[in-house]
Amino acid sequence: MKKLIVANWKMNPSSLAEAGRMLSAFAKITVPKNTEAVVCPPFPYLVAAHKAFHGTRYALGAQNAFWETAGAFTGEVSPAMLRSAGVDYVLIGHSERRKFLGETDEEIAKKVRASLDADLRVILCVGEPAAVRQKGIAAARKFVLKQLGNFFSLPKDDLARLTVAYEPIWAISTMGGKPAGDSPESAGDIAVQIKEFLSLRAKAETGSDGSVRVLYGGSVNSKNAPSFLRESAIDGVLVGGASLHANEFKKILGGGF
Ligand code: PEP
Repeated sequence: MKKLIVANWKMNPSSLAEAGRMLSAFAKITVPKNTEAVVCPPFPYLVAAHKAFHGTRYALGAQNAFWETAGAFTGEVSPAMLRSAGVDYVLIGHSERRKFLGETDEEIAKKVRASLDADLRVILCVGEPAAVRQKGIAAARKFVLKQLGNFFSLPKDDLARLTVAYEPIWAISTMGGKPAGDSPESAGDIAVQIKEFLSLRAKAETGSDGSVRVLYGGSVNSKNAPSFLRESAIDGVLVGGASLHANEFKKILGGGF
């Protein structure tokens, strides 16, 4: 299976002109055949990104979507609007949104449902805070599976369009994360648990096997990316800070995993 490398630009860069320069630099990077690459710029740059990536192997992602389809929801953006702007993927439930905007599991579940209904591919972000991880990997696993438990039931067809990004909050650079992030072994262990949990749920609810991709995110850069990508249960990486630099992203894509 191809590894999925996702760039989350967060609320960067600060102008359309600068975004244009970044998009041109990214568009020149050849995405290797064993890799699927997604770039998630802020909303105002999506249309420019769609144009810049035309004819390349990049897919376009958004960083959020609302659960309603249209109407009096000032400031929100619907999944269908994103789809019509050429967006393929959407990040839902990023820990920065949970923390700074108070997004709840209930709201996140509605956003996942609405995005899948609009034919977007969803990258659902989960991960435990430092206080939980300090109690050990078993506590982290339990926390993450409980977050995932809030999203069901999902029919099997949806599982194919759902990717889970395991991002321990304490490892995210903007949340004061360690530069090295989590260890590849622990991240791989949680990825296995997430896959088992979701395929058991799929079996129970649809009677057939479902499988989801699991990404790791948290201070990933060109130096540590290969060690995460070599873990067999880790299907890709979600990259924040390091994805703002085209050269760094190029090295991650070509990292020889
Ligand atoms: C992220 O934005 O999801 C992330 C993991 O950020 P960083 O790579 O900067 O830790």
